[in-house]
Order: sequence, then C-alpha cells, then structure tokens
Amino acid sequence: MKKRIAIIGGGMSGLSAAAHLALGAKDTFAIEIFESAAFAGGQCASWLDERGRPVETGIHLDFPWYHNKDALFAAIGHPLPLRETDGNYYVCNGATDRIDTLLAGKSVFKTLFGLATFPGLSPWERVQLTVLTARILRMSDAVAERYDHVSVDDFLKAQGASPMIRQQLGLEAVTIQGLRPDEASAASFIKFLRTMYGSMGLFNTTFFGAPLADALIGPLVEYARGQGAKIHLESPVAAILPAETALPRLVTAQGEEREFDHVISAIPGYAVPRLLPASYRKWPLFANLAQLQETPIITLTLWYDTQVFSDGNVYISNRDPATGPIFDAVADKAHHWKGWKGLSHSGSILQVLIDAADDATPLSDAELIAKTLVDLGRFFPACRGQVPSSSQVLRLQGTYCGTRLGYWSRVPRQHETGLAGFWLAGDYTAGIYHYGMESAVISGKAVANRILASMNLPTQEILKPRYLPFVAA
Ligand SMILES: Cc1cc2nc3c(=O)[nH]c(=O)nc-3n(C[C@H](O)[C@H](O)[C@H](O)COP(=O)(O)OP(=O)(O)OC[C@H]3O[C@@H](n4cnc5c(N)ncnc54)[C@H](O)[C@@H]3O)c2cc1C
Repeated sequence: MKKRIAIIGGGMSGLSAAAHLALGAKDTFAIEIFESAAFAGGQCASWLDERGRPVETGIHLDFPWYHNKDALFAAIGHPLPLRETDGNYYVCNGATDRIDTLLAGKSVFKTLFGLATFPGLSPWERVQLTVLTARILRMSDAVAERYDHVSVDDFLKAQGASPMIRQQLGLEAVTIQGLRPDEASAASFIKFLRTMYGSMGLFNTTFFGAPLADALIGPLVEYARGQGAKIHLESPVAAILPAETALPRLVTAQGEEREFDHVISAIPGYAVPRLLPASYRKWPLFANLAQLQETPIITLTLWYDTQVFSDGNVYISNRDPATGPIFDAVADKAHHWKGWKGLSHSGSILQVLIDAADDATPLSDAELIAKTLVDLGRFFPACRGQVPSSSQVLRLQGTYCGTRLGYWSRVPRQHETGLAGFWLAGDYTAGIYHYGMESAVISGKAVANRILASMNLPTQEILKPRYLPFVAA
C-alpha cells in the first residue's frame, strides 16, 4: 500500500517535497497538497489580473548558487527560462539622486574589482571593506550565529566600518532581510554576504524569462500531478493533530479529520504553532516559532505604454529614511518576459518592491503610487512626466520571517518535530541563509530524504554552493 503523505502549503517548499518524493521513489507515495490560496506558488506566485495580464508577488532574483533548484527543474525535464542580468547592482543613491554602479557577477575578478571600486567610498574605505569582506568569508555558521543578537549596524560598527561602508552595506539588510540595518540580525547578513562574495557561479544573477507561475510553479505542479499527486486549492488546513506515537491527522476547513503516514508542514514558521493543539504550542520548538514575525512587503506593478527603462537589470536602494527613495528594488519585467507567449505589451512593466515597509504601510495606494512616481523620476529620466496606464498595489501577507535580533536562536534548523510522522519544511528550516527559493527547495528535498531514509530508500544529494577554498561555510 502507498504511504499517505499530506503536504500543507503549495509554495516552493511543499512542491519541492512532493517532487523529490516522486523522484526518489516512483509510485510509492499517495501525495496530497493542501493549499489555502486559489493558486499554488505562495510567495513565488503569479496570476492574471482582470485584464488577463500577469501579476507577480514581486521581484524574484535567481542566484547562481541555487544548485538544488536548478537540479530539480532539470530532473523534472523542465530547465528554467532565465534572463541573465549583467551581474551588477545599480544603487539609487538618495543623497545624490544618481545611480551608483556596484560591479559584481560570475567572474570572481569582476566581483573583487567591484569591491575595490565600491561606489561612494574613499580608497582607504575600499581597503577597509576588502579586509572586512575577507574576515566575513572566514566566519563559519557558528561564528555568524554568535552575532544573532547584534544588529547589522552594530556589527559593522564593531568591525570598524566607516559610516559610508555601513550605509552601503545596509543595502543587504533591506533587500535580503526585509528589515532596516538597525533591527536586522547580523547573522543572516554574514551568511548572505559570505555566499555572495565567497562562491563561484556559472552565470550572473538572473530573472526568469516568464512570469513565476509559468517559469517555476506550473512545471512543478504539472510534474506532481503527472506523478499522481492531488493538489487541493482553496483548501486551508484548519488544524494539525500530531502525536508522539500515533500517526498524524489533519483537520480540513470543512472539519473533516484525516489520517496520514506523514504530514509535512510547508507554511511559514510563524504560522505553524497556531495550527497545533495548545499542549504542543508550549514545546520550545513551537513556542520559539510563534515568536517569529513576517516582514512587511509592498509590491507595485506599473504598466507604461512606452518604454521607460532601457534594460532588464535590477536597481536597488537602501531606503535611507532621510533621503532614500520609497522603493528598495525596481526592474522592468517587460525586458524579462519579452517573447514570452501572449504578452504583446510594448511598453515597460515596472515591478517596484518596498521591503521593510513598516513606514510605507500607513500610506494609501494613491499615496504609494504618487511617491513612487516622484522617486522613479529622480533616478530614471525617461520616467519623468510619464504616468503608468495602470497600476496595482499588493500588500503582501504570509511573507518570509524577518531576521530580527535573536532570529537564529529561535528558528529550528531541523525538519524533525519529535512528533511521529510530522515534519517541518519551509525556507526557514534549511538552506544557506534564512529564506529564498533555494532554501525552500532544499527544505522539501531534505524532508523527502528523511521519509525515503525511514523506508530504507536511497536519498538525493543536497548540493552546496561552490565556495572558494578559503571560505568557512
Ligand atoms: C516579494 C518577495 C520577493 C522575493 N524575492 C526573492 C528573490 O529575489 N529571490 C529568492 O530566492 N527569494 C525571494 N523571495 C522569497 C521566496 O519567495 C520564499 O523564500 C519562498 O517562496 C518560500 O517558499 P515556501 O514554500 O517556504 O513558503 P511560501 O511560499 O510562503 O508557501 C507557503 C504556502 O502555504 C500556504 N498556506 C499557509 N497556511 C496554510 C494553511 N493553513 N493551509 C494550507 N495552506 C497554507 C500559503 O498560501 C502558501 O502558498 C521573495 C519573497 C517575496 C514575498
């Protein structure tokens, strides 16, 4: 008889778990995915608006160290359509209203040159930055996690970084941790920077050549269904009833109680405890998870009739409260989706991301759009005087856990729960740093491996970034 598997959450982690179980042992599992939304994908979702045009949750950059994700799409026979950027980061500098270029990319030499020419720094500060980066590359996970209760700002101060270095590196906190440098834990910052500067990639940072649903989620859904998995959409799980010795059960929104051999939670960590019986919520594992918080993110999609961006690169900013623009990342999806079926739009489709959005949340949609248009005009001359023909504001919910101070001491980097057949997947449980598509894929693969191993079936290798020899990771 097939092993009955329930997966709660149809995002990248849940779909990865389903695909890796099917890849690991064909016809061995009866898989059911329960997804509360009307479509799969979670934070990586895209859908069509009322006019049939694609809308994504927000900018998704694919990094060159995402080997497990690439391996998964190759294994299901669906290599990803990628649109390579030139690898550089273009930084909208609020103090000057100019765009500074930070050179980076697949070539280690270019990245080193980027450090040596880091915008806005004096020659002495560039030397300081290179020494600091070398020090970070030598930090192991254990050392990084010692800085869990230290903010990115304080960490950089303690490392002797000048105010300008602190301001420039604070970019990473906003765009990667979704938090301001004074509230983000330094541990994630160290882990991300170590991988960005300490690993070799075969390609530059990329975007997908199609909306997320077509590029990423659709192929996984199709593969899972093709292997017999059932995907229940608009089917939130109301409760999980695990036990220490009995098989786990779950309760559907309709109140139906169902037993499975394995239940995999693939929802954000902070959402797990509220599904559990009160007695388990007191367990340290779940009590800690309950303290995590999502990070506030707003995404605007602006449709212009004319082209207002000249390339498909990503433009970032540190959202400096005094001078910075309201957005922390913007890119023209029309460049990435060019040639993708059915999209006949000849103008720009700007996706504008506002991470660490606490300050922007009180603004109305009209105010957000107005402020964004002013700020785009500051940096992109072609945007001046142009008004998008339509715009959409998404106030995202259910996003990844912000890595506030103490994050790493609360988050379980494990899949076992101590309850029979009840597993944790999700971007927060695995991977190189705290979030991301690769972490989500790894988490699903790792849980699939645990289940395969429990049945004495072969497991699938978890691939690591190709670190330079002196990197301590
Ligand atoms: C705007 C934005 C931009 C991002 N940019 C990048 C990027 O550039 N690069 C990168 O690598 N990563 C990026 N990420 C992060 C990446 O999208 C996530 O790390 C990843 O998608 C997490 O996948 P997941 O499956 O762990 O969780 P989720 O995607 O959150 O999936 C969880 C799923 O569970 C469902 N669910 C929740 N509760 C229940 C319930 N009770 N019953 C049933 N279903 C439930 C949700 O609807 C959701 O579909 C970004 C995220 C956001 C929000």
